[in-house]
Amino acid sequence: MVDLFKPVQYLKGVGPQRAKQLAGMGIHTLWDLLYHFPRNYQDRSDIRPIHTYAHGDLATVKGVVTASQETKPRRGLCITKLVLQESGSTFYAVWFNQPYIRKQYLPGQKLLVTGKVDRGFGVPQVHVTDHELLSGDERLHTGRIVPVYPLAESISQRFLRSLIKNVLDQTGSLIPEFLPDRMLDRHRLPCLPEALQEIHFPSDNEACSRAHKRFVLEELFLFQMGMLLQKSKNIKKAKKHQYLPESLTDLLLNSLPFRLTPAQQRVWQEIAHDLAGPYPMNRLLQGDVGAGKTVVAALALCKAAGSGLQSALMAPTELLAEQHAKSITELLAPLGVRVALLTGSARRGRQQLLADIAGGEVQVVIGTHALIQDRIQFSNLALVVVDEQHRFGVRQRAALQEKGITPDVLVMTATPIPRTLALTLYGDLDVSVLDQLPPGRQDIKTYHLPLAQAGKAVGLIKQQVDQGRQAYVVCPLVEESEKIDTQAAIALYERLKKALAHYSVGLLHGRMKWQEKENIMNGFRRGDISVLVSTTVIEVGVDVPNATVMVVWDAQRFGLAQLHQLRGRVGRGSYQSYCILVGDPGTPEARERLSAMCRTQDGFALAEEDLKLRGPGEFFGTRQSGLPDFKIADLVRDGRETELARREAEQLLQEDPLLRQPEHKLLIEHFARRFPDFIKYSDVS
Ligand code: ADP
Ligand code: MG
Repeated sequence: MVDLFKPVQYLKGVGPQRAKQLAGMGIHTLWDLLYHFPRNYQDRSDIRPIHTYAHGDLATVKGVVTASQETKPRRGLCITKLVLQESGSTFYAVWFNQPYIRKQYLPGQKLLVTGKVDRGFGVPQVHVTDHELLSGDERLHTGRIVPVYPLAESISQRFLRSLIKNVLDQTGSLIPEFLPDRMLDRHRLPCLPEALQEIHFPSDNEACSRAHKRFVLEELFLFQMGMLLQKSKNIKKAKKHQYLPESLTDLLLNSLPFRLTPAQQRVWQEIAHDLAGPYPMNRLLQGDVGAGKTVVAALALCKAAGSGLQSALMAPTELLAEQHAKSITELLAPLGVRVALLTGSARRGRQQLLADIAGGEVQVVIGTHALIQDRIQFSNLALVVVDEQHRFGVRQRAALQEKGITPDVLVMTATPIPRTLALTLYGDLDVSVLDQLPPGRQDIKTYHLPLAQAGKAVGLIKQQVDQGRQAYVVCPLVEESEKIDTQAAIALYERLKKALAHYSVGLLHGRMKWQEKENIMNGFRRGDISVLVSTTVIEVGVDVPNATVMVVWDAQRFGLAQLHQLRGRVGRGSYQSYCILVGDPGTPEARERLSAMCRTQDGFALAEEDLKLRGPGEFFGTRQSGLPDFKIADLVRDGRETELARREAEQLLQEDPLLRQPEHKLLIEHFARRFPDFIKYSDVS
């Protein structure tokens, strides 16, 4: 058996210098090297006589060296030509600035070269990119399907190719399999030595794609194993706190101005069941914009307060935290629960507030990521709710969790993501879905207007405000700089104030002081302000049911997920609502986004569309640090494989929950190397 985890430095041809360069590419061990997969391939297997190639073709040709020549037409340029002959025809193989070629290949030797054909000067030339001696029957650099690797500058394709080839030749057949045999059989996957051979040096396309499939499944399988181990670890540690069978939540339910929808009832049951259980809850609540997640969260917070336990709710923006504090105070304060808001900018009374939280006098703390600062201590934090979870990184979620002893965790998101993606991102959580909107909601009529017709949007705003409704006008983040965006918002505000002379128009942007923002937002909530011109600070969560118009300025600049969130600010009451997308899309993709918005209100459909248009990295934004960095699997493309991998991992862990059986020793070793983060959290070692 070979030890795949020994350093590459011990390989022949790898000295300290090379080892350093390889390390720069993340290659430290044999395993790293063999799992450094090609970026793509070049098919050089079709060896044909030179006369069959046209000018400009990429050719693979063989020939016998008959003569060589070196010219130096100017300083710094050395051209080496070998005259090659093949069944009667002659051509030149040409190298630039590689004088050693003349010593490497001598007359009489048979060569194989790959390169671009130049027929400009009589005798055809091949500008060589790869070459080797045609001896024996094993090809490496040409005359076969050749791997093309992702590289750092100091390392060449040829070097890496040879290095990997040598390792495979010497150790390939001795590399032990670590995946369960059954899994390989079931999906007809090649075993590890064969798969490694075929992914680096494919014998044909089909074998290559089977090898590829194996490594995709392998990676996803190890990842899902990690997710499931993490999940079971959560289940295993019993929680220290207990919820009482109290009646405060019933009081809250009775005081609501509406009845819960069946979906809300079901989800609340799921949460209540988790809270009552002996192990900490770890649940994701997914629900489209406006589905009514907040009240479900409020029920959970209420349950904790009724049991004499503390809870915290974290929101991604101050505006949203403040709004939650307001609406949850309205719900819970009459029941005798003390709710407090904690953000970065609220300074007054902060010391006292921190003392009250530490002393347990405040039962529900609502805030931004300020909640996870070191100084904030709770007395008995039992429940953590994270709103708009996709706005936070995994680490922030964990940091809040660490404020309590084995707290229950509920994360909420309005970014509807396809199931297979949810398995990858939230595979360690239980999932609840609010798949039903509160009754009485009407479709939000959505239109696209070119800039030249923006006046129509102003007309609609007037008409709606005249009927007692309110409107948002949002302008996008144009630049990275908040200052410039603010100027854009101010300019638009000035223009609209003129166009809407007899109406009350307010302005909101990220650079305003906290108190100013609060005043404006309160004015809008009370209805004193009819039209709110804003940057995207209102994007998530803001809830003013009387608002019926959302005008998005330069809408082509937004992503689909964002547009959907913005549209979700209206249509929250029973009034007919409108979303007007103003702008001149310059690319087909932008046009497609706007037309998708006009076509559908279904968050899932839009999310799938968005994923296709932008890919997962963009889709989740840079703030989503929870994306696993897969070497070979693709979050979007490999949905089916994700499902398969999940099932395989589930079955394995059912049979051997902690992977303690001796035949799983190697599996754990690979798992630990591939996803070391999971090991920190799991009981497997
Ligand atoms: P989101 O899921 O986007 O966070 P919210 O919790 O802000 O949605 O709820 C959207 C609006 O729907 C709020 O005004 C809320 O009061 C209202 N709402 C929530 N549940 C119901 C219900 N069962 N019946 C009627 N209105 C509801
Ligand atoms: Mg919300």
